[in-house]
Amino acid sequence: MKNSSVTRREALGLTGAGLLAAVGARRLWAAQTLASDEPDTVVFNARVYTVEPGMSRAEAFAVKGGRFVAVGSNESVRALIGKGTKAVDAQQMTVVPGFIDCHNHAVGDQLLYEVIVGNPFEVEFVSIASIIDKLRAKAQKTPPGFWVEGFFFDDTKVKEQRELNVLDLDKVSSDHPVAVHHRGGHTSYYNSKALQLAGLTRDSTNPPGGTFDRDPAGNLNGRVTDRARVVFDKVGRRPQLTAEERLQRGRAALAHMSKQFVRYGLTSVHHEHFDGPDALRSLETIRAQGELLHRVFFAVTGRQLDNLIESGVRTGLGDEWLRIGGTVEHVADGSFSERTMALSVPYPGMASGYKGNVTETQDALDAWVLRMHRAGIQVNCHANGDVAIDAVLTALERAQQKLPIPDTRPQITHCTLITDSLIRRIKALGAVPAPFTTYAYYNSDKFHFYGQDLMRRSMAYRTFIDAGITAAAGSDFPPGPFAPLMGIQGMVTRTGWNGETWGPEQRVSVAEALQINTLNGAYASHEEHIKGSIAVGKLADYVVLADDLHTIAPDKIKDVKIVRTVTGGKTVYEA
Ligand SMILES: [Zn+2]
Ligand SMILES: [Zn+2]
Repeated sequence: MKNSSVTRREALGLTGAGLLAAVGARRLWAAQTLASDEPDTVVFNARVYTVEPGMSRAEAFAVKGGRFVAVGSNESVRALIGKGTKAVDAQQMTVVPGFIDCHNHAVGDQLLYEVIVGNPFEVEFVSIASIIDKLRAKAQKTPPGFWVEGFFFDDTKVKEQRELNVLDLDKVSSDHPVAVHHRGGHTSYYNSKALQLAGLTRDSTNPPGGTFDRDPAGNLNGRVTDRARVVFDKVGRRPQLTAEERLQRGRAALAHMSKQFVRYGLTSVHHEHFDGPDALRSLETIRAQGELLHRVFFAVTGRQLDNLIESGVRTGLGDEWLRIGGTVEHVADGSFSERTMALSVPYPGMASGYKGNVTETQDALDAWVLRMHRAGIQVNCHANGDVAIDAVLTALERAQQKLPIPDTRPQITHCTLITDSLIRRIKALGAVPAPFTTYAYYNSDKFHFYGQDLMRRSMAYRTFIDAGITAAAGSDFPPGPFAPLMGIQGMVTRTGWNGETWGPEQRVSVAEALQINTLNGAYASHEEHIKGSIAVGKLADYVVLADDLHTIAPDKIKDVKIVRTVTGGKTVYEA
């Protein structure tokens, strides 16, 4: 809907008092006032999708001091252009609010400093030989006894179409412990040296919450899942960095990550961090240096979380660039992509009757959730399978019964496989699911492990919308690529890179997908009043796209060019 009746006064968002002062004062003074009212930038002749209820379309907008000060028709907004205003003819390009990713591990350190054995950003098949070669090259530069590790492995993006195993990794080295980590984050593959250092043998039994996988003859095959991997934490050696080296790397990693985010149109990201105070300090430093190009909602864990609670710090402390977020995802079960999530039924097609890994007891979950709830820290739990979502909801319900607090918006990260009764409970609690966004496109090669019946209830954006639940977008990078346009294409089509369509019942419209990736993300951090849509008074975070997502063929959405990304009125990326 176009709003061509916006007057200059409405467009500027002037208060009555401000307007009176401007017209009633002496001429010189009035001129100064008007000069200071001049927008910094006016963008006109654009196809603006505001994601605002009541005004979904506009032709133009004005920005001043990093905020939108006018949104409306070409005529009304162009009337505001002053001598110092930069006027931009968008030539009918599309403008949408900056994208928001509510679950991202932002592992710039891996991208910059580690061996990457798969493509972090796109669908690409690699050979096992290439993985072995890369790790061998690393082993040759690494003293014996030190770990040699590879990251971003994806078991369904391998040319040989098979899992990695202990024999493959024994070809890398027998003097180094070797590990290849699945990009999903819940399974790793080890060589014989690593298994031996960890004291594992054919007779080792599975610990709670994880497995040591075996070949048909019962020998360890090198794949280890979820909590079983803790036995490797204390074995092998790793280079010791000085505090200064660590900080330097942290800063470079986050600056690198920020550049990647804005390249894909993300202007706000919820960072999941596991490495103590360094990351927060690094973010402050790169911000001061002008290298922070996106806004950060910073999730906390471990000692840092304890310290914040002890100091009385609550979620939300900070400003619009860097804010203390909720908790880092508290993990209740295994992985969707790596097929270890906790299901109420056995995995289809697995003769063993395996139902996935529950990684936390109900008692522990209850106690942890209650502690966060009491402290005013926004709860964020990782739950994929219906069994784990049930456990998380139970813990949240018990905390609310003990201490009712309105509008807490606990995040259920992934929230993959739902049922009707889970939906009712999510709605009643006001919880915010943040399902995988890019998986529908990127991981379509894994959904046959679950089958169409379970996929109809997975990544259930349609069901959430229909139930009146505000669901946000969570790429979970590195498990999923974080490109919002890849996410939107998958949400709209439910068709993957291989042409397979899974759970078409969960398709949403382009407009709905856009809202999930923008305004709903702002809602997830209680910031919907300052960002997430193009509206007067909100932060001027937006993306200029070469094509209109609403009219281009749905299977071309992910390839639409990001022409420009703007955070707070400042261009942070330009194609
Ligand atoms: Zn997770
Ligand atoms: Zn995650």
